[in-house]
Amino acid sequence: MSLKYEHIIWDLDHTLWDFDTNSTETILELLHEFDLIEKPIMEPQKFLEDYIRINRHCWDLYQMGEMDKETLRYTRFQQAFELNGVSSESSRELSDRFCEEYVVRCPKKNALIDGAVEILDYLKAKNYKMCIMTNGFIEAQHVKMHVSGLNSYFDHVFISENLKAKKPDPKAYYAVLNALNTKVENCIMIGDSASSDIQGAVNVAMDSIHFLPDGSTETKGTHAIKELMQIKEIL
Ligand SMILES: [Mg+2]
Repeated sequence: MSLKYEHIIWDLDHTLWDFDTNSTETILELLHEFDLIEKPIMEPQKFLEDYIRINRHCWDLYQMGEMDKETLRYTRFQQAFELNGVSSESSRELSDRFCEEYVVRCPKKNALIDGAVEILDYLKAKNYKMCIMTNGFIEAQHVKMHVSGLNSYFDHVFISENLKAKKPDPKAYYAVLNALNTKVENCIMIGDSASSDIQGAVNVAMDSIHFLPDGSTETKGTHAIKELMQIKEIL
């Protein structure tokens, strides 16, 4: 039976690589090593929740071109520190030191989203060609792919910093189609982000699978799934 699609274009963070688990583990280690627990950070769990919320917001701004990479890197920690008892006088310096360690350590974590390896094995066995398309940073994404063992599944890793355009910009998608030497109808995008992965696919009329682990079904994508294994019903 011939396949409807030839290429599967995967997002990396929050879709295959378990960003929240890996990031949380790294931050908890660093809060201890920087001796920040109890004084000033009374509730590490609250700090983590604040950080996750702020980080997502900063990434939205980065993806819209409204925040640069360097600002993103320290701002997310600085704001979370200030909400958790660190004075504004010392928060910037602390954020710089904390972030420097975080960006080296976090990509070396290897937790994957449930079902990631199983679904990649399944798709590889069906001879789909698979690539990654990510808005993450070059130095981090290659380490994540290598350490987590994801490298072996993908022919290409397309990183927005190299493409000179970020999802959802059609330029990024056309650059990928060009590199794959294929047409949009031969591809399907899989990702968790409505504003980047799915909006980008919609912008170039590419089919898509919206990974929504919270179980919501509202999407502009072609399909919505709660678990990666549901991809078997589609591909
Ligand atoms: Mg993502």
